[in-house]
Amino acid sequence: MPDPADRSIQFVKGIGPRRAELLSKLGISTLRDAIEYFPRAYKDRGEITPIREVVPDSEVTVRGKIVSVRLKKFFYRRSMVTVILEEEGSQVTCVWFNQPYMRERFKRGMHVIAAGKVRLGKNDEYAIANPETEIVDEDAEETLLNGSRILPVYPLTERLTQSAVRSLVHKALNEMNVSVEEIMPESVITDHRLPEREAAIRSVHFPSSEEELERARRRFIFEEFFFLQMGIALRRKAIRQREKPRKYCEQKGRCDGFIRSLPFKLTSAQRKVLDEIEQDLMSSMPMNRLLQGDVGSGKTVVAVWAMLRAAASGLQSAIMAPTEVLARQHFRKISEQLRGEDLNIVMLIGAATASEKKRLRQLIHSGHIDIVIGTHALFQEKVKFKDLGLIVIDEQHKFGVMQRMRFFRKGFAPDMLVMTATPIPRTLSLTIYGDMDVSILDEMPPGRKPIETRWLRNRDLKKAYNFVRKQVREGRQVYVIYPLVEESRYRDLKSVKKMFQELRKKEFPEFRVGLLYGSMKPEEKERVMLDFRDRKIDVLVSTTVIEVGIDVPNATCIVIENADYFGLSQLHQLRGRVGRSSEQSYCVLVGTPKSQTGRQRLKVLESTTDGFRIAEEDLYLRGTGEFFGTMQSGLPDLKVGDLFRDFEILKVARDEARRVVSGDRKITYKERAVMRRILHQRFAKRFSLVSI
Ligand code: ADP
Ligand code: MG
Repeated sequence: MPDPADRSIQFVKGIGPRRAELLSKLGISTLRDAIEYFPRAYKDRGEITPIREVVPDSEVTVRGKIVSVRLKKFFYRRSMVTVILEEEGSQVTCVWFNQPYMRERFKRGMHVIAAGKVRLGKNDEYAIANPETEIVDEDAEETLLNGSRILPVYPLTERLTQSAVRSLVHKALNEMNVSVEEIMPESVITDHRLPEREAAIRSVHFPSSEEELERARRRFIFEEFFFLQMGIALRRKAIRQREKPRKYCEQKGRCDGFIRSLPFKLTSAQRKVLDEIEQDLMSSMPMNRLLQGDVGSGKTVVAVWAMLRAAASGLQSAIMAPTEVLARQHFRKISEQLRGEDLNIVMLIGAATASEKKRLRQLIHSGHIDIVIGTHALFQEKVKFKDLGLIVIDEQHKFGVMQRMRFFRKGFAPDMLVMTATPIPRTLSLTIYGDMDVSILDEMPPGRKPIETRWLRNRDLKKAYNFVRKQVREGRQVYVIYPLVEESRYRDLKSVKKMFQELRKKEFPEFRVGLLYGSMKPEEKERVMLDFRDRKIDVLVSTTVIEVGIDVPNATCIVIENADYFGLSQLHQLRGRVGRSSEQSYCVLVGTPKSQTGRQRLKVLESTTDGFRIAEEDLYLRGTGEFFGTMQSGLPDLKVGDLFRDFEILKVARDEARRVVSGDRKITYKERAVMRRILHQRFAKRFSLVSI
């Protein structure tokens, strides 16, 4: 038998084709859509003020009978609708400008509730302009709202009224025989004292008390997180279920020798992470690990060690960087560090000629190459490995979940190490990286002094330049960062090319000034970076291309102009380009933010170098939407839950989802089938889901 919930809303009395059309714009075409269309807010209906007690300049809700409805038309399609309400001989006038259709809504004799601000009209009448109104169907009203004072407010488009949606939902639930199916396992519901879905739906639309509403809301937040986490837990399981078809050799001297050959001692955080990775590599399940470490915490050497570990076991490995500049830097450093190891290391980047790429691909395919260093773009092409054992992805925040899965499919159940310098607040890592194990490098190499950060207003720019001069005279190198390349339509923003000319000619004629920006040819970029590294450049003027990963220890000062145009986390990343040696480093932020939040953001950077705190603040100041935007997380939008506000529920829902997936929570065959259907509906396109 077809589910009544799938029936079109057109079967509901009072819904004609025109209204159905309007409702379909909101995504409501079936009865199920209607009952799952949640209010965006609630309003206390409040007291109804008797019309005779209404005074000007007060916010009121009144109720009366319509005694007159008039439409006046003016030139240029302008119009005015006036509706006069009367109650016990006193009157209030409701006025709408340029909404002639309001004329059709009201008829003499109707009872109406109207809310808004009262003003004294031209003829000394009391008038409410553009009031919110509700036509009161004398009989239905009390049943509809059940005597409650809490009024749902739906997100609506023009021409649909709140009461139209309210009554549609009411009819769907009470007259159309729609029963709401429970979609979470019964035992989960009881254990967490959640209301049943049907009861919760009713409460969300027609709550009789705040407490009831709160319980219902909690249920739907829980439900939303639960299914999201189920999706993540299933993916986690899918990755783990695949046995690695290969083995790493027991660790003998080779990797230890590499560690001993380094010019520094590993921090204990680095050693701990190496142990964690070692266990993953030796396990029969593929590694799926996220390595978080603030800029400069020494992630690269961890990756190199792991790749050497793979090579020593006869396996190929690949490391991917987000930019060619970074790929080149990795290639230089890694080749240098592994010089004594007799390994074949190649770099695969877009700048290579077609024939060169082809040759490299053949070498990789034949298994001749041990380590491939490149940009992610290349790995989306036709590179085939003989036996890819390990994939390292550097600076993960530039990649999305889906891309990660694509890399995973490159090899047969390869181990995967994802490195990010964007500290991810726990609120988010549970969600975005919920399928991964997490290691954290929470210790900086010894001898590093925290970067001193100062925020200067635009008018104090000269002070920043004076400071740069001082630094360069002491033998240090400096970055000067601008947000945009070309002179732009944003009048105040400086273009990097123009500033380069100005700094070189006027500000620092006695120094060697270099220029770096995104659209330069890769070889040119490389040239500039090498010159900077080799101290042939004193002051490097750049855009944010240097944001990720560039490592030049003698650069001890970074000036960021128009700092208010950058995100907090991005500023933190940029700042991480300095502070890479035992010398004291400095960061000067220049900008005059227009908003309070803008100023607050720069102050956060002045006060801390703790990446996690900065990420939390960033999340807090910007809200999750934007934060996710920059992370390209590929996460579905949340409808009711908020990762920040509802973190506690998120944790509980996650644990529960894991319990279900692991089989610790016993569920019936039918419950399983329902969940599978829901997961499919919600995430089929997002996650490559496997069956429960
Ligand atoms: P990030 O985590 O930002 O990628 P890098 O791996 O680029 O950091 O390391 C930053 C710098 O610190 C490099 O020059 C690296 O050689 C150095 N380094 C890494 N580990 C240590 C350590 N334990 N002691 C001293 N210096 C280290
Ligand atoms: Mg790095």
